[in-house]
This record gives sequence, structure tokens and C-alpha cells, in this order.
Amino acid sequence: MPKPAARLAAVPPHLFAEIDKRKAALIAQGVDVISLGIGDPDLPTPDFILDAMARAIREPVHHRYPEHEGQPAFREAAADYYGRRFGVHLDAKREILALIGAKEGLAHLIWAYIDKGDVALVPDPAHPVYKTQVGLAGGTVYPLTLKHERHFLPNLDAIPTDVAHRAKLLFLNYPNNPTGAVADLGFYEEAVAFCRRHDILLVSDNAYSETTFDDYVAPSVLQVPGAKAVAVECWSLSKPFNMTGWRIGFAAGNAHAIRHLGVIKTNLDSGQFGAIQAAGIAALTSPEAPRFIAQMNEVYRHRRDMAANGLWSIGMQTESPHGTFYLWAPVPHGQTSAGFVTDLLNETGVVVTPGSSYGPAGEGYVRLALCLDEHRLQEALGRIQKYGRK
Ligand code: PLP
Repeated sequence: MPKPAARLAAVPPHLFAEIDKRKAALIAQGVDVISLGIGDPDLPTPDFILDAMARAIREPVHHRYPEHEGQPAFREAAADYYGRRFGVHLDAKREILALIGAKEGLAHLIWAYIDKGDVALVPDPAHPVYKTQVGLAGGTVYPLTLKHERHFLPNLDAIPTDVAHRAKLLFLNYPNNPTGAVADLGFYEEAVAFCRRHDILLVSDNAYSETTFDDYVAPSVLQVPGAKAVAVECWSLSKPFNMTGWRIGFAAGNAHAIRHLGVIKTNLDSGQFGAIQAAGIAALTSPEAPRFIAQMNEVYRHRRDMAANGLWSIGMQTESPHGTFYLWAPVPHGQTSAGFVTDLLNETGVVVTPGSSYGPAGEGYVRLALCLDEHRLQEALGRIQKYGRK
């Protein structure tokens, strides 16, 4: 066998690997393992989307290669959604591109913009895709530490001018995985101004814009006047419609960024299966969608309150986030994230994610994903509380 490409060495070791091994060993021993590890909705995709898919799958037009940039009707549906939801006008032809999930778009935007040695401004902690792909593309990550005292928003003023000068991309993700933090339009205004000043493409990962609570409504960066000159946003159907397995989303915003991303995609994937795009159209246009999203958010809000109360009762002072289905909880004093996670798993069979797997600034925290039913969540919390009181 030939050696794999040297760039694979840039992929950081997976912190979950050890936990996954340990989890498998416990399951093999008959332990009832409960996972709060993965942000993957446990409830099914709603019928109004399944029905559209069932119809579309029988249409021969979808059995052929799809248009790589997405069906015109899908892109129109995405543009209309942004119009209704965010009051943002988008040209479906030039400013929207269908994605095989937001992750695919984020990764390929990096390949469209980052050459060897180029700088990308990447939050820490963050979803691993930004850092890993910048590394694979030969770029350099300049970390933007997200601190509790700044509500997990990066301090753009603290970025040295020479770094800002060299940077090509700035990644932002609000509502935020893993911290659950949210951003208001004022923050996006600052970020857009910063990117205009330094000629940086702002990449907003808005995968959780619809998963919000307490009357909080998440904005799009594209609502900032002039944002389209410097910003592109990746939006996903995965979380709001329980569609993580379907792999569908879209990129919206700056027409150059959309075109450059399109060049990578035409030469790589050949677009998403047409029937899945038809299901995506149903999700984006159905009058049932807002009610479905509201129902899901009520489910997550209830789980959030249950879990936050449970953790507070043992001194883990987590905040109740206004968005995402994650809790970002500080580990008890004197323990590391990985130490707490391993110990908790061994003692109780409950899986949570070490904050350090999202970057060094995540050390001292664990993330709980609230993607399991309330009965199992209660069981998991009971075990965590018993462990915490020891
Ligand atoms: N961005 C963030 C912040 C996420 O948490 C996730 C998934 O967990 C994604 C992107 C990926 O979304 P998609 O399923 O659309 O690829």
C-alpha cells in the first residue's frame, strides 16, 4: 500500500476515539450506556417532508444527475425562505447554492479560498470542521478565543492588525455549537465592518438559526446592510427539520463566494439527489413548517430546563442557552474535561463530550447534547447527580 498523502498528518487526533472505544467496551459488558454526546435530533422528519420525498422519488427526472448548483426551484425556495424569515433579498441564481449539508459547504469554501500559508480566523472552541479543513488545505488557523465573560463572542478588536491583514476568512457560528451562545445584529454589524476593512470573507455558519427559545429570534448576518459585499452564510435543514441524515442545506450571500464554491463543487460532487432537494423545497415552503419548528423548540426548551436544573443541583453552573440543543457546563474544580468525561462514563455509563475536543479554550467544560427523550434524559441526569454528589 502507498503511504497516504502527507496532508492527512494535519488532521488532529480524534478525542472521541478513546471515548468511543470505552463506550463500546462498556456496552459489550452489558452496561446501559446513555449518550448525550452527539447533536443529532432523535425525533423523526415530519410527514409533510416525507410525503414530498415519497412523491419525488418516483419522478424519473430525479434519477439522473442533478444540477450541481441545485435545482432552480430549490434555490428559489431558499431565497424565499430568507426573504420571509430574515427580510433578506437574495437572487436565487447568483446568491444561492444547494449544499450536501452545511458542513460540506463550509469545508469547500475553505478549499475555494485557502492556499498554503493563508490565514483563517477560527473561533475556539468551535465545530472541528473549520480548523481541520484549513489545516488540510495548508492554511494557518488564528484562533479567536471565546470567553464566558464576553458571552462567547470573539473580540475582533484584539486581532493584531498584521494578522487581520493576512486573513482571508473569518468563521462565525451563532447560535453557537458548542457553547449555546447567541449573537445580535449589533455584533454582526461590527464583524461585517471588520471584514470590509480588512478584505476578509465572513463565513457565517447559521446551522442553528431556527433552534431558539424564550422568544429569542436569531438573525442572519445578511441582515446587516452591505453584508453581501463580504459575507456568505451556510444554512442547514438538518437541525430545524430533523433531517441530519438527508444531507441538505444551502449557501447564501456574496455572489463571488457562491461562484467560487460552485467551481469546487462542479469538479467534486455532482450535487444532491433531486428527490432530497424536492423534500427540501417542501421543508422550506410548507405552511406546516413554522408550527413544526415551534413544537420542536418547545421539546428542546423543556429538556434544556430539566438538564440545567439537574446540573445546578450538583454545582455545575451551566447557563440556559437561548439557542441550540446543547448545554455547555463547567466541570467541577480540579478536573479536566477529558478526565471528567472518562470518569463519568466509567462510573455511570453516561457519555458527554469533552469541551477540549472543540479547541484548547473548551478545556474546563463539557457539552451535553439534548437529543434523547425525556425519560432517558431523566435517567442520565439522575446518574450524573449521583456521581456529582459523591
Ligand atoms: N455547523 C455546526 C455548528 C454544526 O453543529 C453542525 C452539525 O452538528 C454543522 C455545521 C453541520 O450541519 P449539516 O448537517 O448541515 O452538515
